[in-house]
Amino acid sequence: MVVNQAVQPQLRTPKRVSRVANILPLNTPMPLECDACDHEQSYSMTHLRTLPTITCKECGDSRQFSQVELITLNKALNELGYYINKKS
Ligand SMILES: [Zn+2]
Repeated sequence: MVVNQAVQPQLRTPKRVSRVANILPLNTPMPLECDACDHEQSYSMTHLRTLPTITCKECGDSRQFSQVELITLNKALNELGYYINKKS
Protein backbone atom coordinates (compact mmCIF):
# COMPACT_ATOMS: atom_id res chain seq x y z
CA MET A 1 0.00 0.00 0.00
CA VAL A 2 1.40 3.35 -1.03
CA VAL A 3 1.14 6.05 1.53
CA ASN A 4 2.55 9.55 1.35
CA GLN A 5 2.16 12.94 2.94
CA ALA A 6 -1.46 13.10 1.84
CA VAL A 7 -2.17 10.99 4.88
CA GLN A 8 -1.70 13.12 7.93
CA PRO A 9 -3.00 12.88 11.47
CA GLN A 10 -6.41 14.23 10.62
CA LEU A 11 -7.99 11.64 12.78
CA ARG A 12 -8.54 13.78 15.85
CA THR A 13 -12.20 14.64 15.94
CA PRO A 14 -14.37 14.20 12.92
CA LYS A 15 -15.55 17.54 11.65
CA ARG A 16 -19.05 18.42 12.64
CA VAL A 17 -21.02 18.67 9.48
CA SER A 18 -24.67 19.43 9.19
CA ARG A 19 -25.51 16.31 7.27
CA VAL A 20 -26.38 13.15 9.12
CA ALA A 21 -23.41 11.05 10.09
CA ASN A 22 -23.68 7.32 10.02
CA ILE A 23 -22.21 5.82 13.14
CA LEU A 24 -20.78 2.37 12.70
CA PRO A 25 -20.26 0.01 15.61
CA LEU A 26 -16.71 -1.13 16.25
CA ASN A 27 -17.53 -4.67 15.20
CA THR A 28 -18.45 -3.61 11.67
CA PRO A 29 -16.63 -5.87 9.23
CA MET A 30 -14.21 -4.03 6.96
CA PRO A 31 -13.35 -5.74 3.71
CA LEU A 32 -9.64 -5.70 2.92
CA GLU A 33 -8.05 -7.04 -0.20
CA CYS A 34 -4.98 -9.22 -0.09
CA ASP A 35 -1.98 -7.51 -1.67
CA ALA A 36 -0.87 -10.72 -3.30
CA CYS A 37 -4.04 -12.26 -4.74
CA ASP A 38 -6.80 -9.65 -4.27
CA HIS A 39 -8.84 -12.07 -2.20
CA GLU A 40 -11.16 -10.06 -0.02
CA GLN A 41 -11.51 -10.75 3.67
CA SER A 42 -13.39 -8.88 6.33
CA TYR A 43 -12.01 -7.82 9.65
CA SER A 44 -13.80 -5.95 12.39
CA MET A 45 -12.59 -2.52 13.36
CA THR A 46 -12.05 -3.85 16.86
CA HIS A 47 -9.56 -6.31 15.43
CA LEU A 48 -7.92 -3.84 13.06
CA ARG A 49 -7.35 -1.39 15.87
CA THR A 50 -4.98 -3.83 17.48
CA LEU A 51 -2.84 -3.50 14.32
CA PRO A 52 -2.85 -7.24 13.81
CA THR A 53 -0.92 -9.38 11.40
CA ILE A 54 -3.50 -10.33 8.83
CA THR A 55 -3.18 -13.56 6.90
CA CYS A 56 -4.93 -14.27 3.62
CA LYS A 57 -7.02 -17.44 3.73
CA GLU A 58 -6.62 -17.83 0.01
CA CYS A 59 -2.87 -17.63 -0.58
CA GLY A 60 -1.48 -17.50 2.94
CA ASP A 61 0.17 -14.14 2.40
CA SER A 62 0.50 -12.32 5.68
CA ARG A 63 1.35 -8.79 6.54
CA GLN A 64 1.11 -6.31 9.35
CA PHE A 65 -1.84 -3.96 9.33
CA SER A 66 -0.32 -0.56 10.08
CA GLN A 67 -1.38 2.49 12.00
CA VAL A 68 -1.20 4.47 8.77
CA GLU A 69 -3.62 2.09 7.10
CA LEU A 70 -5.95 2.38 10.04
CA ILE A 71 -5.89 6.16 9.70
CA THR A 72 -6.40 5.91 5.95
CA LEU A 73 -9.33 3.60 6.44
CA ASN A 74 -10.94 5.92 8.99
CA LYS A 75 -10.40 8.89 6.73
CA ALA A 76 -11.96 7.12 3.78
CA LEU A 77 -14.97 6.21 5.90
CA ASN A 78 -15.31 9.77 7.17
CA GLU A 79 -15.32 11.07 3.64
CA LEU A 80 -18.21 8.75 2.90
CA GLY A 81 -20.06 10.06 5.93
CA TYR A 82 -19.35 7.11 8.19
CA TYR A 83 -17.88 7.36 11.64
CA ILE A 84 -16.75 4.60 13.89
CA ASN A 85 -18.38 4.56 17.27
CA LYS A 86 -15.35 5.14 19.47
CA LYS A 87 -17.01 4.19 22.70
CA SER A 88 -18.25 0.69 22.08
ZN1 LIG B 1 -4.02 -13.65 -0.86
